[in-house]
Amino acid sequence: MVDIVSSASCKGCGGPLSLKPGEVIITCEYCGTAFNQATDKAFVLDHSIIPNGLDEEGVKDLLRAWMRGGTKPPTLAKEARFESIRLTFLPFFIVNLKARTAYRGGMTRTGGWVPREGTMEKEYFWKVLARRASAFPTREYDIPISTKVAFDLSRVPSGSTFHNSEMDQDEAVSMARQDIEAHHRFLLQQDIDSVDQADTSFDVDEIEFLHAPVWEVRYVFRGRPYDVLVDGGSRQVIRGDVPPPDTSMKGFFGTIKGALFGD
Ligand SMILES: [Zn+2]
Repeated sequence: MVDIVSSASCKGCGGPLSLKPGEVIITCEYCGTAFNQATDKAFVLDHSIIPNGLDEEGVKDLLRAWMRGGTKPPTLAKEARFESIRLTFLPFFIVNLKARTAYRGGMTRTGGWVPREGTMEKEYFWKVLARRASAFPTREYDIPISTKVAFDLSRVPSGSTFHNSEMDQDEAVSMARQDIEAHHRFLLQQDIDSVDQADTSFDVDEIEFLHAPVWEVRYVFRGRPYDVLVDGGSRQVIRGDVPPPDTSMKGFFGTIKGALFGD
């Protein structure tokens, strides 16, 4: 690998570590100890893993059932061909915090100006994906947190990809704060015509760090590739591309026939 910048040894077992640019919290691939590479200190937070409950055949079965459900081309499950199926463990911080937004603004919809002010307070378990260049749909992913166990390397099957964290907990908290601040502004704008001021303060309670199993699948249908993400923990589709409806005559009548006669 060309992107290994330096090597060091694990504080837990003495094994060699491969450090890649940008990685901050490293999990030793021999003993599973996690530590902060930048400060060279043991990682102080609990490290958990969501057990993966699927294998390749299980992913295919699940996706064939998914292809038969909802509004999809009627022959999708029959014709789709799986091109690649990969298991990846992604690092997440879950930040438990209370956010309190003091706001001031006004209502204009009656033609006049009616001042409105108050506070909005909410508690969150906010997910932060600890990777920078990723289009992963974090907000759509409902991590099955109740299934987590203490981190254990034997839960990471050989052949899967394991991603280290590219940020530490302080940065994760600051990202959660930014996200929530924007989220509160969005919520206020649903109720108040003009939000002139919104100041959010935070009370961070707990931060946890975990790895979660996500299957990245590419299938091909009528010559085109489509991507699906499957949660290996809850065995649910997180997000999946669906081919556009078939607008050819054959497909159109085929769909009508299917709808009328239960195909
Ligand atoms: Zn080690």
